[in-house]
Order: sequence, then C-alpha cells, then structure tokens
Amino acid sequence: MNKAFDIGVESLSRNGGAETAGLEAGPSRDTVHSGKFDPTDVAAAKSFGETANGGTFFLETFGCQMNDHDSEKVAGLLLSRGYRQVETPEAARMILYNTCSIREKAAQKVFSRLGEYRERGADKIIGVLGCVAQQEGQDIFKRAPWVSLVCGSASYRKLPEMLAELEAGNKRVTGLDNDTDETFETEITRRDNPWRAYLTIIEGCDKACAYCVVPHTRGPERSRGSESILREVRQLAELGYSEVQLLGQTVNSYVDPTTRHMKFSDLLLEVAQVAGIRRVRFTTSHPRDFGADIVEAIDRESKLCDHIHLPVQSGSTKVLRAMARTYTREEYLEKIALIRGAKRAISITTDIIVGFPGETDEDFAETLSMLDEAQYDGVFGFKYSPRPNTPSLALNDPIPEEVKGQRLAMIQEKQRLIQTARNLAMLGQELDVFVSNKSRRENQWSGHTTSNRVISFSSQEQELLGSYVRVKVTDSGTGSLTGTHVAG
Ligand code: SAM
Ligand code: SF4
Repeated sequence: MNKAFDIGVESLSRNGGAETAGLEAGPSRDTVHSGKFDPTDVAAAKSFGETANGGTFFLETFGCQMNDHDSEKVAGLLLSRGYRQVETPEAARMILYNTCSIREKAAQKVFSRLGEYRERGADKIIGVLGCVAQQEGQDIFKRAPWVSLVCGSASYRKLPEMLAELEAGNKRVTGLDNDTDETFETEITRRDNPWRAYLTIIEGCDKACAYCVVPHTRGPERSRGSESILREVRQLAELGYSEVQLLGQTVNSYVDPTTRHMKFSDLLLEVAQVAGIRRVRFTTSHPRDFGADIVEAIDRESKLCDHIHLPVQSGSTKVLRAMARTYTREEYLEKIALIRGAKRAISITTDIIVGFPGETDEDFAETLSMLDEAQYDGVFGFKYSPRPNTPSLALNDPIPEEVKGQRLAMIQEKQRLIQTARNLAMLGQELDVFVSNKSRRENQWSGHTTSNRVISFSSQEQELLGSYVRVKVTDSGTGSLTGTHVAG
C-alpha cells in the first residue's frame, strides 16, 4: 500500500493518496459549494432540477484536479441532457465514478466502491469513467458485471452518444479510444468551486516517464485552441470568477493549435488581461519545458500568481535517467535558479517518488540534498507504486516497502524543518489574501495568498467571503500562517 504526504501550500492532489502528515493543510475544496452554472446558458439552468429523461445521477471523483475538472464538465453535459444531480448514490438512477489509477491504492478504492453494488445495483446504471476505465477496459465488465458504462477520459467527447445508448437500454457501453487529437469541450460546465475556476488547456501526455500510467490512460498530448480558452475565461469573469487555474499534466508544454500559435507564457499574459480576472494559476509544469519566458511573464504581470509546481521526482541523475524524466539534477537546479532569480519571491512546490527500482541509499541522499538546495515551500511525496502498462514494471531491483516508508518519513522530516523556517521568515509581512472560508469561530476567516499558502486571520468585518484583503502575518506553522486583517 502506498502512502504519500503533502505539506505546505494547499494540497494539489486529493484522493490520489496525498496525506497531510498531521499538518494543517487548510480548508478542503470539498467544503466549498456553489450553485453556479456556467458558461451562462439559460437552457442549462432550466434543465437543472427538471428531469427531461427522468434521470438522476451521482458522480464521485477520485484523483487530481484534472479529474475534478473533467467531472465538472461531465456533470455539465448530463445536466444539459435533463439529468438531475443528487447528493447520494442511493438517490441516483445512474452512479458514475471518475477514477484515478496513478497508484495502486487509488485504483483499488474504485473496485471496493463497485463491490458495494454487487447486490443492490440491479435497478441502477453504474459507470466507470477516467483512468481506471481506460486501464482496465472491458475487463471491468468481467470483474463487475453490474457495470454498464466504461469510458476513458480521451472518449468524453463521445459521451452524448454513449448516454443515448444507455438511455436506449444498452447494458454494455464503452468509450476506450485513446488515440485522438481532439480535446473535450462542453458548452456547459457545472463548477463546484465558487471562487476558483479550473480550465484544462492541454490534455494527455507525450512524455513517457517510466513509472507513469498517464500516457496510457489519458492518451496523447493535445492542446486546446487559445481563442476557445480566452472565450471561456471571459465568460468566467462575467460570471464573477476572479481566479482561474489553467490545468494540464504538462501545462507548460502547451502548443496553440490555431493560427495564432501562442506561446504558453503569452497565453498566461493574455488570460491575465481579461477584465475581472485577478489571479491566474497554472499546474503542472514539466521541468524540461520550463523556460525563462514564464518567469519573465510572472515578473511583468502581478496577476500571475507567484507559485510554481515543478515536480523533480528524484535528486539523483541516475534515477532520473531510469525514470526517463529527460533532465539531469543539474538541469533541474538551473530551472530553480531561474525562478529564484525572479524580481518577486515565487513559491516552489514539488513531487517526489521514493523507492523507484534501483534507488540506492546514495541516490536517496541526493534527493534529500535536493530539498536543501531547492528550498521548496511544499512537497508531495509518494512511495513508488508499480503500475500496469508502464516501462518500469520490467525493471529489477525492487525496493522493500519498509525502506520506501523510511525514506518517505525522512523526506517528510526534512521538509517539515525547511517549511517551518520558510514560513517563520514571513512573520510581519503583509499579504494579499483571497478569502474563501469563514470559520465557525467568531471573527475568524481563512484564504489563500498568491503563493497558495493557507492563512487564517481575524477580522471584525461582517462579510469577506470572495473578497481580497490585506493580512499581516502574526504567527506561522509548518503548513499554514496566522494573521490579522489590516486596512485595504
Ligand atoms: N505530469 C506531472 C509531472 O510530470 O510531474 C505529474 C502528474 S502525476 C498525476 C502526479 C504525481 O504522481 C507525479 O508527479 C508523481 O510524483 C506521482 N506518481 C506518478 N506515477 C507514480 C507511481 N507509479 N508511483 C508513485 N507515484 C507516482
Ligand atoms: Fe506522467 Fe511523466 Fe506525463 Fe507527468 S510528464 S503525466 S509523470 S508521463
């Protein structure tokens, strides 16, 4: 069983195995609810609550933000067809699981959920979407014959046809094509978060990291046209969203397929120009495609948030080579130097895999020393999990689970010290905070800084949710800051 931990700025992954190691990780996105539907579509708003097809659906999401956002689009599509979203599987005619298979534990969770419907699923339509669907394919019908829909993310654009087949009574509907150059665009997206809107700008992945299922489960890299992205950002701003987060497995590998041929950094700048948008985030950046132009764009435009998630995976060039990460330790450190050379301080977070086959104590010591050199503001650590259809399955020299656990704990401890010191250095600073949570405790609020740190603070104001305020840092911990509202 693999465990991971994340400490520091707000969790970048959710059910995918991240664990907060007893440290405060800030308000969960699960607690934020919104009645917003967008883009503005009157028909969609009408169909919500009506049941043109007499259908109700329950949708549960596992995994990363890309899965969260895929689910928002799938929900939008269902709502536009007259389905109604319900809060519990019991109340639903159709139960959908949008799944993650990045580590074994995440994939197992899906099968245990499906097991719950062995007997009581007879009157329901059960569907498996996402990475486990793509990975296991038709075998899901063998393991769980009560499932009717198996659809990988690269086939979501065909969901309307698949839904029509289900509505016609077909009991075995599949969408397993992952060799496509199309992206999944819907007219309606049912966003869960009232403040931060996700937008996928690039789907799939053309890198071939030896441990990773994503190229197999999400298909080849395909970028969305810049005009379409900017149109959606304008619609979001009109709906009142002030923060957008551009998503992609390798977001900075974006290549505009339209005649504008916009560079990723130019796209960032143009998104920031949209009236009403105050913060622009992007994740995940791949080190190989990370260039000085991105740092220059952040320097030029204060709406581009000062946070970069730049997964290193290992500090050892030997292990990086075995992982097929396409950069050396030294090349990665050059990217860190670029970011540290920016005119304003930029937070850097990372992902690390411990216990990749063949990782020696010396290799692991290099990963530990990477933490010292890079001075990360947050680390998501994972024990290596062998996955189907990945090249590293063929590698010898597995690392015992016990050793993986010890190495993860050592990363955790070192990062705890680094982060505590980095947060302590923020005492007395005044920061812009976007307020996203009101505590049950009187006069207590919390929100995010542009570096994505969670900060709890006191204020005498009656209503602050959704606003930007100045907060002076008065205390700090490993995972969060505390402060007081100052004028402005
Ligand atoms: N595209 C991103 C990148 O290149 O860094 C990462 C996307 S992946 C969904 C998120 C993280 O999961 C990876 O950065 C890696 O640390 C971790 N991960 C992926 N495959 C893994 C595996 N087989 N075992 C353990 N961790 C894994
Ligand atoms: Fe997986 Fe590597 Fe692609 Fe990231 S870049 S999604 S780790 S193959």
